[in-house]
Parts: sequence; structure tokens; C-alpha cells
Amino acid sequence: MAVIRTVLGDIAPQDAGVTLTHEHIRYAYQGCEFDHNNVWDLDQVADDVGRRIHGMVKEYGVKTMVDLTPPDIGRHPELLAEVSRRSGAHIIATTGFYAERMGIGFYWRRKSVDYIADMLVRDITEGMVHDNQLTPYKAGVIKVATGGMAQTPAEPNGKRVTPLEERMLRAAGQAQKKTGAPIGTHTQPLDYGPTNPALEMLDVLEEAGADPGKVMLGHVFIKPRFEHHVGIPWMHDSAEQLDEELAVNICRLADKGYLGQLVFSYDRFFSHGRGPITEEEPDQDNTRVPPGYLFDSFAPRLAKKGFGKAELHKVLVENPRRILAF
Ligand SMILES: [Zn+2]
Repeated sequence: MAVIRTVLGDIAPQDAGVTLTHEHIRYAYQGCEFDHNNVWDLDQVADDVGRRIHGMVKEYGVKTMVDLTPPDIGRHPELLAEVSRRSGAHIIATTGFYAERMGIGFYWRRKSVDYIADMLVRDITEGMVHDNQLTPYKAGVIKVATGGMAQTPAEPNGKRVTPLEERMLRAAGQAQKKTGAPIGTHTQPLDYGPTNPALEMLDVLEEAGADPGKVMLGHVFIKPRFEHHVGIPWMHDSAEQLDEELAVNICRLADKGYLGQLVFSYDRFFSHGRGPITEEEPDQDNTRVPPGYLFDSFAPRLAKKGFGKAELHKVLVENPRRILAF
């Protein structure tokens, strides 16, 4: 029988309930582990994040959350397990890699595709390794990524996916084929228009044997507009107009028959594993969108357009459990 693999063990798909498919319990770039301003206490962070997620469980009925943080940007298996225990939410951990411009340690850049694929499979089947120790916690989703902090210059072949990212995609495709585990992606919203990085990724994944029905493409532009980061609401200021545009486009997709292929999430950074965000990193502050936004503000907006309870249930419950189960 297919299961959804959470950090605290496998669950039946029908027990997943309302599921957010792209969140970050801890989000921390490589190198921060030797920053004086980044000394943190696991118990304290687990308590803080656990309480906030428990609030979402109680108030909005969120039951499951995918922590789509690969190890190269701060995945912390013990923290995820502890947050799951304290919040009461099922948490799904990630194996895989972030984009070349923001992640992928040198050690892994030198490894073969097969070697990388083997690590991804073992994270899913045996347990994740943290600080050279095998933990009892398994990953339940594979991450792949492309793009940087700004619009990505084209590679000589005209694509945005770099040769290194392509190798990671091949490894992820192989691991997907072998395990059946789902894949979640990161793309840079500004890259949509000159090209379509999500389709570039999908092509490589399929070539490597991945099932496209198991791939969740992240930050996908519904309507390409360079000045707007539709798909990452907390990055933009003119929320009202863009929310409206996003809602209209979601309804349009549903009308065209794509309701079964949509999932929603916040992409929230619940902690950075460090002190307060400094002025040097304004792009890391995503607290502008309140935790109830999807339920209190965006769902009513959709409902007015005919995207009601049944459609929301499909996107928040039925689609995630189908995609996440393997
Ligand atoms: Zn993200």
C-alpha cells in the first residue's frame, strides 16, 4: 500500500488532511554554521516553531507540511522531528539539493550522478545523515532547483538550468524512478518569460525516468510578468492587485481542467536557525503574509469567483496526498 513518508514514520495517505506542500522549518544558507550571530538552541527553536505550527493546526486544520528544505540550505532532521512532536503536524523532510548559485557544496559537485542518486535513495529508505551521523528520520520528498537571487543569465545553450543542476536533476529523476518518492522544485520567478525553467527541469527529470505526475513545480508563473513575483506573495508589496491576478489565473486554470494538478503553499521560513533577520538580508523576511492568509483572505477571494470548498479540498487535500504517496 502506498504511504506518505513523514519524519516520524509512514502515514496512510487518507490521514494527511490539509497539506502545505512547500514550507521551511529552518532556512539557512551554507556558511552560516560558523557565524557568531548564528548560535542557536534546538530546544528553543523547536518550541517557538512548534507553537506557531500548532496554531495553524488548531486554527486552520493544517495537518501535514512538507519541509522542502534540502540539506544544503539548513535541513535539520532532529529539529523537524521535534517540531512535528510539539506541533502535532505531520512533517515531510527533503533530500536533494538547492540551486548551483545558492547551494550544492563542493564535495557533491565532484560526485557522479549515480553516486548522488544513491545518496537520495538512502535518505528516503534508510534515514538522513546529519553531521556525519545516520539519523532515524527518513526523507519523503526530493528537491531540485535552478536560478539565483535575480534573473538568471542564459547558459550557452539558451537554458537557465546549469550543467551542474542538470546532473542533480538526473540523479533526482533516477531516485524518483527507484523509490516512487515525489519531487518538489524551486525555480526563480523572474526567469519565466525568456524561457520556462520548470519545463527545462521537467524535460531532464523525464529523460532520467521520473514520473511527471510526481513532480511539483515550485514558484511557477501563471502569467509571466517580470516586475511581479506572482507565486511568492511575501516578496511583493502591491498584494491586493497581485492576489486578485493570482486568483483569476488559478480559476482560469481550473476552468481549463487543471484543478487536479494544483497545490498551494506559503513557502514560509519558520526559522533561520539564528537571530533576527538583519537589514543586510531584507529578502529573507517573509513574515508579511500572516499564517491565516490562505484560509482567511485568499480562499474567500477564490470562493467569490466560484472556486469553492470542493475545489479548495481538491487542492489542499486530494492533490497533495495523491502526489506525496508512494
Ligand atoms: Zn522554498
